[in-house]
This record gives sequence, structure tokens and C-alpha cells, in this order.
Amino acid sequence: MIRAGGIDLGGTKIEAQKFDAQWNEADRRRTETPNSYSALVAAVTDQVRWLQMDNPGLPVGIAAAGLANPGNGTWIAANLSANGMPFVLDVAKATGGQQTWLNDCRAFTQAEAVFGAGQSKGTMVGLVLGTGIAGGISIDGSLINDGEGQSGEFGHMPIAGAIIAEHNLPILKCGCGRLGCYETYGSGPGMERLAKHLTGRELTSHEIANGRTDTEISRIWEVWCDVNAALILTIVTTVDPRTIVLGGGLSQIPGLVGDLERALGRVAWSDLPLPSIRLGTRGETAAALGAAYAAYHV
Ligand SMILES: [Zn+2]
Repeated sequence: MIRAGGIDLGGTKIEAQKFDAQWNEADRRRTETPNSYSALVAAVTDQVRWLQMDNPGLPVGIAAAGLANPGNGTWIAANLSANGMPFVLDVAKATGGQQTWLNDCRAFTQAEAVFGAGQSKGTMVGLVLGTGIAGGISIDGSLINDGEGQSGEFGHMPIAGAIIAEHNLPILKCGCGRLGCYETYGSGPGMERLAKHLTGRELTSHEIANGRTDTEISRIWEVWCDVNAALILTIVTTVDPRTIVLGGGLSQIPGLVGDLERALGRVAWSDLPLPSIRLGTRGETAAALGAAYAAYHV
């Protein structure tokens, strides 16, 4: 028996997964993400049809970068050709049914809260560190996804003035159009900006992660950890989670959890207990699983 289907729509691939009654993956099908909007709608439609082929009416959840603008239904995502288009409506029309759409970092959070490292009573936060920074908030396994869907856009909160002042950092314009968002320094490209500012060197985040025996590079890493620790403290003062589950490419950097915990000790303003920081355990399938779970529980 297939319980629900999930689609992880990324910048390079569209992966559909079927989940059985125990929420184990039963089958998957991967296609490339096309560059044009009409081809993208057709490719997502094709994946929905594959999921429902032997399972008519199967709930389908779609995890995608960005979010729908509730005012006019258009999709907001810089790295998809659906940006500014009525994506949700066009896929519904093409498939003749409704799907459940979730931001991919919210879907990651949902999967980790129910099936992964965030399973517990109380408040849990998912934090995805990659080319951008975003996540989600879950209470007792239920994702906060009401309102306009913006809860979890942590990367676009303003960076703490103390970090800017301590390291004499310039206040940068973010991809969202505003100034001084956390992700301008806390993301992968942000780490590279820190390297340029602190040392004048052009280094990739990969080179920084692997070169930490070098004193100068270890300093870049320390400041980057301080930026993300300040972000975590901002989240703590807002929802006080018991657990923070990390995802995204940068979460794979060895020693990250311990170094972030040490940075939290440096930037914390009190000796109150801090949340437990853990790595996600659902791997690359988390987004599709979280979206499928959300679709089943609509
Ligand atoms: Zn921003």
C-alpha cells in the first residue's frame, strides 16, 4: 500500500518518491529540472502522474525552493523559472488535482520533527545551511505553516549589531533586496565573503572547511560560527527550541556541531541552558518525505 507521494523540486533535479504505510520509501523517479517555465510545469505534472498512476487520488506533497505569495498566488524563488509565475495553479490545472506545496526547508523540518533527529515533545527548529539559510519551526511534531508561509525564513532576519561591530563587517545587500540579512555572512557564499573581508583572500567554502589548520582560515571559520551562533540565539529568544536540527550542504562540515556549541558559549548573553544541536538524520530524502507527510495530513 502506498500512503502518499512526495516531490523534491530543486534547481537541478525533480525527484518523486512513493512512501508506504510505514513511511518507508517504496519507489523513486528522478528527472532533470528544465530551464523554461512551461517545461517545468510539464515535468512536475509528469512526476505527479507517475506517483498517482497506480494510486488514483494519492495525496502528493511538493517541496520546492521559495514560497507562494498568498496575495496573488505567484511563486517566489530566485533559482527557479517559476519565479513570479502562478506555479501552484498551473500544476493543479495540468494534473486536474490539488497538491500540497511546502517550502523545501519547511519540508526538511517536518521530516526531521516526525521521523528524524528532532523527534521530541516541545519546540524544534530545523536550520538548513547552504547557498542560503532557511528552516522551519515544529511544535510536538506539527509544523508551524499557517499565515503567509514565511515562518522559518531565518536567513533574512537582521544580523546582530554586535557581530558587525566586533569584526568591523560591512553591511551587505541580500538577494532578497534588503540590507544586513544573516545569510549575507552565514551561508556558504557568506563564508566566502567573510574570507575576503577578513583576509583579502578568494577562498571557496570548501577550501575554508578543509583548510582549518591554517591560522588565518581557522579565524574565518570562527567568525562564521559566531555569525550562525548569533542567528541561533535570535531563534532562541523567539521560540526557545529544545532542539535545533541542522541540514544543508554546510551541515556536513566535520566538527560543525561542536564548534557551533562553543561559539554559542562565546556569544550568549546569559548562562541559561541552550538548545541541543543535532545533525539531521533523514538525509537527502527529508524534503520529499516531509512534503508527503504534510500532504497526507492536510
Ligand atoms: Zn535577505
